[in-house]
Amino acid sequence: MLDGLFKPRAVAVIGASNNPYSIGHIVIKNLSTYGFKGPIFPINPKGGHIRCFKAFQSIRDVPEEIDLVNISVSYKLIPDVIRECGEKGVKFAIVHTAGFKEVGEEGIQREREMVELAHRYGMRIFGPNSQGIQNADPEVSVYANFTFVPMKPGNISIIAQGGGMGEMLKLHLHNVGLGHRMYCSYGNECDLTMPEILEYYGQDEGTRAIMMQIESFKDPKAFLEVASKITPHKPILAIKAGRTREGSVAVSSHTGTLVDQAAMATAMFTKAGVVEFHDTEQMVKAATAFSTQTPPTGPRIGIITNTGGPGIQAVDESVSQGLVLAKWSEAGRARLKESLYAEASLGNPVDVVATANADHYFAAVDTLLHEDGVDMVEVFFVTAPFTDVDAIARRIKEATAGSQKPVVVVVETYSAWYGLIDKLRASDLPVYQFAEDGARALGAMRRYTALRDREREAAPELEVERDAAEAIVARHRGSNAFLPQAEAFALLAAYGIPAPKVARVEAAADLTAAAETVGFPCVLKVDSAEVVHKSDEGGVALGISDLAELKSAFKAMSGRFAKGASYIVQEQRPAGREIIIGATESPGLGSLVMFGLGGIFVEVMKDVAFAVAPLSRPEARELMRAIKGFPLLEGVRGEPGVDLAAVEELLLRVSRLAADFPSLVEMDLNPIFAYPAGASAVDVRIRVR
Ligand code: ADP
Ligand code: MG
Repeated sequence: MLDGLFKPRAVAVIGASNNPYSIGHIVIKNLSTYGFKGPIFPINPKGGHIRCFKAFQSIRDVPEEIDLVNISVSYKLIPDVIRECGEKGVKFAIVHTAGFKEVGEEGIQREREMVELAHRYGMRIFGPNSQGIQNADPEVSVYANFTFVPMKPGNISIIAQGGGMGEMLKLHLHNVGLGHRMYCSYGNECDLTMPEILEYYGQDEGTRAIMMQIESFKDPKAFLEVASKITPHKPILAIKAGRTREGSVAVSSHTGTLVDQAAMATAMFTKAGVVEFHDTEQMVKAATAFSTQTPPTGPRIGIITNTGGPGIQAVDESVSQGLVLAKWSEAGRARLKESLYAEASLGNPVDVVATANADHYFAAVDTLLHEDGVDMVEVFFVTAPFTDVDAIARRIKEATAGSQKPVVVVVETYSAWYGLIDKLRASDLPVYQFAEDGARALGAMRRYTALRDREREAAPELEVERDAAEAIVARHRGSNAFLPQAEAFALLAAYGIPAPKVARVEAAADLTAAAETVGFPCVLKVDSAEVVHKSDEGGVALGISDLAELKSAFKAMSGRFAKGASYIVQEQRPAGREIIIGATESPGLGSLVMFGLGGIFVEVMKDVAFAVAPLSRPEARELMRAIKGFPLLEGVRGEPGVDLAAVEELLLRVSRLAADFPSLVEMDLNPIFAYPAGASAVDVRIRVR
């Protein structure tokens, strides 16, 4: 329980001073300005007073029990301070001080010693190198943090890794008149972890939604578990910073080069039902909608406007967001017709026209909210000087009161009328200034419910020969090398992954037997760990129709590669739609599965999607649909589609293989031929660590 951190009964500030530019001073100031409900104890060896609080020379002298301390003294003094706090029975220490993990090896050591010391006393460390926490719950009102954004109670709780970003999120909620609930920027995360805090927020009744910014995941699995438990009842909005490629994976496979931090974060967010953003402003704008509106139960949007253009912008953005334009019932249409001006347009958007008055707006909003086919409403209104805009705002508010469907309002006006925006916001309506922003906020809310309400299943039990697979993997564990082709295909076979017949060939003398096993037409391929792209180096001979051809192909190919290279003869399969399935180790998380279309789609367009292994059936189906090229698999313009069930099965089996054997650090099935019936993996590369 983190009550001692977020609901401390008493706070001490170690490093408190009368220097107004010191962190300790500002923490004291913030605690007192925002009316912390418990006692505040500045600690300073000189004693005296800091602001109006009596300072103690040591925390040991404080006469009361202390749950939380804020520490901002130099890292050199930290061990002594931690010891004193421990002896005093302090439960949580926020360490603002820098000079730890972020400065390298020495700092890492310092951090480790600090945590060990704290744990000896049962004390937990928050930070170091962190800005601190806040809880705006009026029962507590704790601003144990050294920054500047005023604290006002709200219902969005914020977790940020860095203080600068955390403050940014808070600031922009504040700027639109919303406060926040709990806040923290967790810095180095040396002891208390982000998932622990997330779990605490998840259980907090006053937190309606959680907004987070993450730079790196210390424990991705823990995050995934905690977030997955929260999102069924509470939205999590997140940004993963640092979306550049991490070069930690070998570049020899497509999966390896395409996977990066961003892909990993997206895969985790999707699995956990977290709404991901790539833009801070959009995340905050969405949060303002989550703060007051009930997320929609479907994708159908109704739009109301008093001017044409912005209505069209709202339509365009809604469609890009994956929303669907709602249609009205006959009765709804009739009511619009009788309530609005004759020149109003009654479709979607409803254009009430510029001269529309407050009653027109009321009728339009009320009608749409009562339509069964409408899941959400965007109301646009330009403050036409010949209308009573205050009355319009009032009536919009009346029409939305008590509705369980989300409504956003977009007001086009200039500063003289900003009071109107404040009034709408004060009546719990999110207000934006661009039509697109309203659609995006609703789109984000729908992304949440679509994730929340999707089919959730466990990864299925599959019939596999795990022992056979284990025997192959065991032979190569520790090699950190690519499996010989015949063994890689045997591994696929053990997991029921369809592939052509193969036979291993070491020398010309093996060809006859190999041809008998495989049959004609067949393919000859070089089999060497050094040859990454076999066809580029003349290591693939296709369309061999008899033994004589096979022998001459072998003669030509074996001249090209070093003595001692191995080869395989493989059954030739008819060409199909090429797809690629890969799996790659994702440290701390397990394995990520990649799906894409082969050839230029993967090489040029990078049209691939990732998911966390092992996949459930719905996840496999979602993953296939996550690529832009999916319609090609369904079949377009007379071209037949492929056997999606077979592809789904393949995804499940590859993901299961990757999850069962973490030492398979890299797997690339490229290409797989997918047919109108069935699919077959004609090439595979697997690296075992
Ligand atoms: P690499 O990717 O190392 O160049 P592949 O084994 O993928 O080698 O072969 C190159 C191409 O040859 C494949 O993309 C596929 O189009 C074709 N091919 C490979 N094996 C077969 C096969 N068994 N049947 C039909 N075509 C094949
Ligand atoms: Mg290949």
